Amino acid sequence: MFPQSCRLPSGSRRVLRDQAATYALAVILVPLSVGMAAPVTATAAAAAASAPPATAATAAILETGPVAAVLERALADTFALAALRELCDEVGPRLAGSEGMRRAHQWAKRWLAATGADTVWTQPVTVPRWERGREWARLVEPYAIDLGMLGLGMSVGTGGRPLVAEVLAVTDWDELEARAGEAAGRIVLFNPPWIGYGPNVQYRSQAARRAAQHGAVAALIRPAGFGQNTPHTGVMSYADDGPRIPAASLTEEGAALLWRLDRAGRRPTVSLYMEAEPLEPGPCANVIGELRGRERPGEIVLIGAHLDAWDTGQGAHDDGAACALMIATVRVLNDLDLRPRRTVRVVLFTSEEYGGQGGRAYAEAYGGDDPRHVLALESDSGCFAPAGFSVRAAAETIEALRPFAAPLATVGADTLYPGWAGVDIGPLVETGVIGIGHRVHGREYFRYHHGPADVLTAVAPADLAANLAAIAGFIYGVADFAGAELAPDPASRTKDD
Ligand SMILES: [Zn+2]
Repeated sequence: MFPQSCRLPSGSRRVLRDQAATYALAVILVPLSVGMAAPVTATAAAAAASAPPATAATAAILETGPVAAVLERALADTFALAALRELCDEVGPRLAGSEGMRRAHQWAKRWLAATGADTVWTQPVTVPRWERGREWARLVEPYAIDLGMLGLGMSVGTGGRPLVAEVLAVTDWDELEARAGEAAGRIVLFNPPWIGYGPNVQYRSQAARRAAQHGAVAALIRPAGFGQNTPHTGVMSYADDGPRIPAASLTEEGAALLWRLDRAGRRPTVSLYMEAEPLEPGPCANVIGELRGRERPGEIVLIGAHLDAWDTGQGAHDDGAACALMIATVRVLNDLDLRPRRTVRVVLFTSEEYGGQGGRAYAEAYGGDDPRHVLALESDSGCFAPAGFSVRAAAETIEALRPFAAPLATVGADTLYPGWAGVDIGPLVETGVIGIGHRVHGREYFRYHHGPADVLTAVAPADLAANLAAIAGFIYGVADFAGAELAPDPASRTKDD
């Protein structure tokens, strides 16, 4: 999903400075960190041992008690980075329902077990499936050059041979309607200005069906993202009763070139080749692990992210880092011998990218009263510097949660505000569970999102550690809260922003 706020520059600018040494360390740490206790500093261990019980009423206790130990341990963490390194480098592409996703399931189960989680299991989920195959796009008139492109998820291919056609380049839906008479037999390119993911993603999802209504043979889009000559993929859909034409993202620069040629009165010709193929739905799974609560195991505090990722780049920001953070949260608590009163459950959802099938299946299977979810947190906005949490809950609930975020000021995560929680936890939140969206300073996110640049080296290790501190610190406070209810009225929520 997309970040709600972009107030500070991202921490990603320091990525390049020390990353080579840090990533090398992550490789070295793999055999040490899986199945072995990571080193805990003497200060953190002492703080944990002498800490009083946490309560929501006094932030001061949180600041000086176990939460302080959690923050210190998290900021020194190497476990999350080692897990993310292995997911990115050794699992490979992991579209829902694919062989790569099955490797990702093994990764998740192994790393969850290495946290000391009490239980690790998988929940079967049937998911849509799709294969990209080989693909390319080439401008052939008025001259020949290759165009950067990525086929859109769920698109059909070009039937085993290149599709060659003139391009009709339009800015937006309105211009397509105005020039609808020119579309038949041509490739329609949409080149809307970048406003933001929300406004722009409609062109990715609907370009093919809108263009096909007017007889176009393929649809191209300016990507729902940006970055130097970087195409971005993502899911699209067809009308049930409409023609199914191939759809692909060009780069921002490539789309602009075709649009300018159109404006100059030229009729550029593109050759498009795609082997893409939607497949029958197939078996996949959510991976779940939990640390059972010491007093109220039937009350669940869920922390989640999606394990599936587009088959371009490594899915490091989207959403591999968050998967590693949720797993590492359990490791941090276990390393400090902090077993909260409530159960902390990690859920790594499948098929967020294809439409949220994993999240819906989870809510259907586990959304009942026994055990009962009291809060669900999701991270799916990239791994940049922490920016706090957006909360889907009533205003008084947000106030009641503030003490749990207050100690996170040291990592810039003490802000709570009403807002979006997440796609995967959405069905659960709709039933009245408090929904929390983990927020980051994601101004740069759409350079990487769904594109080839979303790789391990785009994630700053310092941001990973800071986000671990934010999530583990917040979740420990909530899960260990001594009061009977986390919020006065969790059922009456604010509307989506
Ligand atoms: Zn995502």
